[in-house]
Amino acid sequence: MTSPFHLEVQGVQVPFRITRRKNARNVTLRFDRNGQLRVSAPRRMSDLVIQRTLYDAYDWIVKAKRALPRRICERPSQVCLDALSRDWAITYLEDRRSGVRLRESDNMLVLQGAISQTPLCLAVLRKWLINQAKALLIPLAEQRAREHGFPKPSLRIRNQNTRWGSGATNAHLSLNCKLMFLHRDLVNHVILHELCHIRHPHHGPAFWQLLSSLDPQMPRHKWLLSKAWTEIPEWAHR
Ligand SMILES: [Zn+2]
Repeated sequence: MTSPFHLEVQGVQVPFRITRRKNARNVTLRFDRNGQLRVSAPRRMSDLVIQRTLYDAYDWIVKAKRALPRRICERPSQVCLDALSRDWAITYLEDRRSGVRLRESDNMLVLQGAISQTPLCLAVLRKWLINQAKALLIPLAEQRAREHGFPKPSLRIRNQNTRWGSGATNAHLSLNCKLMFLHRDLVNHVILHELCHIRHPHHGPAFWQLLSSLDPQMPRHKWLLSKAWTEIPEWAHR
């Protein structure tokens, strides 16, 4: 039987699947062709022991994941940003000019230029995503900070493949532009999480107590967030 899980260490998310085998003696790890971490374990081994083994192998997992060949990524035909409850159809127009330009009208994104060069198209889309994220996430984080009595944060929006955000006691916060693909409730949850790091740098009991006082649905949001990486479209990854 196999079941999907996520491994999270210091905010780094790695999805994995456990297969229990009758004849297995140890836990073995490998990445399959789709970049999914496969964990093979003896049938009677407890989840806790498997989890501990994974945490021990954390450095190997991160390195092996980085070394995976990038999957061939198609140009998307639409983009849905859940955080804005909006979607756009994407049209591609070829012309003789080098480079790819993007123009937006209503619910349409038009990419024009050397559109047969897929990496160029994807880079343009990722830049557009960053700009969408800046326009939403920066004012939203400032608003949440005001509401809950935090100092005004200094914000960076980045495209990261392993974490949703980071926060520090000097109020420097970083948020992942991929939050735009998630429901607004989860975006708020991540913003509150990072704001709480202004008061508590580590994930100790005081940190979780503060976060749950600001986000009464914290357990549900944490759980949803742990599954959310699989919802991010391939093109959004750098
Ligand atoms: Zn944290």
